[in-house]
Amino acid sequence: MTSVSLLGVPHDDYSSHLKGAAGAPGPIREVLWSDAHGLVSETRVDLGEPGRLIDHGDVAFDAATDPWDAIEARVGEVLGAGHPLISLGGDHAVSHPILRATRKRHPRLTIVHIDAHSDLYDVYQDNRRSHACPFARIMEEGLADRLIQIGIRCVNPHHDAQIARFGVEVVTADLWRRSLPLKLDTPVYVSLDIDALDPAFAPGVSHPEPGGLSTRQVIDIIQAIDQPIVGADIVEYNPSRDVNGLTAGVAAKLLKEIAGMMVRTGVRTSPS
Ligand code: MN
Ligand code: MN
Repeated sequence: MTSVSLLGVPHDDYSSHLKGAAGAPGPIREVLWSDAHGLVSETRVDLGEPGRLIDHGDVAFDAATDPWDAIEARVGEVLGAGHPLISLGGDHAVSHPILRATRKRHPRLTIVHIDAHSDLYDVYQDNRRSHACPFARIMEEGLADRLIQIGIRCVNPHHDAQIARFGVEVVTADLWRRSLPLKLDTPVYVSLDIDALDPAFAPGVSHPEPGGLSTRQVIDIIQAIDQPIVGADIVEYNPSRDVNGLTAGVAAKLLKEIAGMMVRTGVRTSPS
């Protein structure tokens, strides 16, 4: 059986505006396992089957350890089980150490990054680890062969320069179409910032940006990925900003659809 690992990454110290995303893993798990919803993905994968979803709990942080080292080490251990991993952030900064660990197992890797923001700042508010910067760090360190960003709608001239510098492929929110060919030809890592969705669909984020994707459109993007999905993160859900748990429900739904695609493509990560 192809299983999918889950890992909480409750870290938001490098959020620039509002904190709260560190509280996301619990509410997402609560909706995921709630009796109110089934666990069968739209692609007909029953995630409720025993052994299908393996929850590894949360990354533990302590004052003596650099949090980036703690995340990279724990993600590396979990990937050692040989299953694709969905990490539950946390803010978007955590994608950097997650991808450090993921890249060690995947010499060919394309990131499909779904977000309102490009998160390509070289530095933001004097912090190179800011949640506005992770994809600058990821590309500098060569942690992916390709970076495809979808849903972006806040590009400034600095971002444009970074996009050119790193060769980022950008599909801005206005240009996304259902049949857009992504021409994927390597294993894929999906980095899903919940603020890619329009705030009408997902109000529980720190930086709501109107003009975004619908829940349906994000699912369509996930289901269009025709290469093995070996890792994913779902980040920037901020329970303190949510309305009636609506956004937790969206995050859990997207988790199910990503997990369903991971199982359907059925490829294990390389053994440790
Ligand atoms: Mn982001
Ligand atoms: Mn964002």
